[in-house]
Amino acid sequence: MREFVMTLLDCPACRKGSLKLTIEEKNNIEIVSGKINCSCGAIYPIINAVPRFLDNYRLDKTEGKDVKSSQVQQRFEYQWKRWGRDEVIFGRTREESKKFFLDYAGSKINPGYLKGKFTLDGGCGHGRFAEIMAEFGAYSVGLDLGSGVEIARYRVEKYSNACIVQGDIINPPFKRGVFDYIWSNGVIHHTPDTRKAFTRLAEILKKGGYLDIWLYPKKGFLWEISQKSIRFFTTRMPAGLLEFFCYLAVPLLSVVPTFSKTSFPKNSWSQCAQVIYDWYSPKYQTHHTNKEVSEWYRQEGFMDIEVLDLPVAIVAKKG
Ligand SMILES: [Zn+2]
Repeated sequence: MREFVMTLLDCPACRKGSLKLTIEEKNNIEIVSGKINCSCGAIYPIINAVPRFLDNYRLDKTEGKDVKSSQVQQRFEYQWKRWGRDEVIFGRTREESKKFFLDYAGSKINPGYLKGKFTLDGGCGHGRFAEIMAEFGAYSVGLDLGSGVEIARYRVEKYSNACIVQGDIINPPFKRGVFDYIWSNGVIHHTPDTRKAFTRLAEILKKGGYLDIWLYPKKGFLWEISQKSIRFFTTRMPAGLLEFFCYLAVPLLSVVPTFSKTSFPKNSWSQCAQVIYDWYSPKYQTHHTNKEVSEWYRQEGFMDIEVLDLPVAIVAKKG
């Protein structure tokens, strides 16, 4: 954990207490272990250089610690454990991911803009975009719910301007109005309430800052109903069995287009299987339209709404 993140953090339990950092172990790179105490009594540990803001980690709590993690958390934990350290993720190398980031960042966001800014990757998973924003010189924070944070932290380790935080995007452990730029690519449609998660991200953005969201687009009736039917089964089967079916289904990617442009045989079996798994595994998955998401931005007081030709990717400035 890097100390700069302390200026951004907020207690998710009370959202008003003051936080105090106690360092237990620090190496020549960062804070490896310690505690963050809130004046409300909540105590959050720093483990393996990641501050942990989930209830089951709280040191002041005994009850509620044995709550099973959600299906979505478990499924993504499996995914990033299995594929998160790969060089190619979603069919893209690191360099290709940089280009992808800039394509989805809209016309106002570029490395020059990001330098020295406080940025958040809301749902950083494997950590590659948090890493890219750090490389562009931002004070880059990656937030994720699951154990993908261990892999994300490994990716950003060499950047003194990057930090990974474990917490819930529906109740993010950050103060209101602290980030200059928030990127959340393909994440909040996997929460129990996509609209609410959108508001939460808008709240922690500074006035004049940019929010950049990409969500799955809503397609035709046949596509929607067929995917819903298949996902009824795939979201209920054990992750390992689903992975097996995903490997079997890989040749289909030679004819079925994917959002990430991963295809067979351009990408390997494993790379294709990851993309299929990503689509069929999480319980929550909502699909949206440009019109609907633009309206969310307006409701939250955003301006300069830029609807990209990459549905549903929208970037806008907080008014
Ligand atoms: Zn508190």
